[in-house]
Amino acid sequence: MTKDFQGKLFVFSAPSGSGKTTIVRHLLAQERFNLEFSISATSREPRSNEEDGEDYYFISTKEFKNKIKNEEFLEWEEVYIDNFYGTLKTEVERIWAQGKHVIFDIDVVGGLRVKEKFPEQTLAVFVKPPDINELIRRLKKRGEESKEKIAARVAKAPIEFSKAPEFDKIIKNYDLEVALQDAEDLVDEFLGLKSVKKEESK
Ligand code: 5GP
Repeated sequence: MTKDFQGKLFVFSAPSGSGKTTIVRHLLAQERFNLEFSISATSREPRSNEEDGEDYYFISTKEFKNKIKNEEFLEWEEVYIDNFYGTLKTEVERIWAQGKHVIFDIDVVGGLRVKEKFPEQTLAVFVKPPDINELIRRLKKRGEESKEKIAARVAKAPIEFSKAPEFDKIIKNYDLEVALQDAEDLVDEFLGLKSVKKEESK
């Protein structure tokens, strides 16, 4: 268990291909935020550029199901058929024990669940891509998935879009530079580092 420090939780959720991972990486690089990435557990296969214990904890489906049974997850989802993803309770403890705030790159349902569990401490942000076609283009560009897998990701997008209003904030990722700045402003504000000066941008 952590002693006394309880940090904030920053959830970034979006349909796959929305660019949330890029945003999360950018925020992690801002030292003033003192953020640490919540490494999820997953039963999917690693991509060529992914490291175990860095991008994910890659575990078998059997192991994943065992952890569900043992109530080791803060939240978990079968995001795609037979592909389980979840946040281990120990991740949040690990990061808070370092005196840091937690940042999550997780799916929409999981993101809302974290918010439900820690309503005051969590800022839940939905990252909105311009439209479905752009989403497909980005997923293809990534070049890591089969046609079927891309189709499964795209098929899920409308349900995910419908959950956007349940988030605390929505960031439009139409122009990456703008989205990165918006994300920084939100984190700054939630951490009380500076009050947001954004009125005139609407
Ligand atoms: P990918 O396979 O592209 O890495 O991730 C697929 C989806 O699962 C993404 O939307 C990603 O954010 C989400 N995801 C990653 N980790 C978790 C997690 O711990 N819990 C939930 N609910 N979703 C996750």
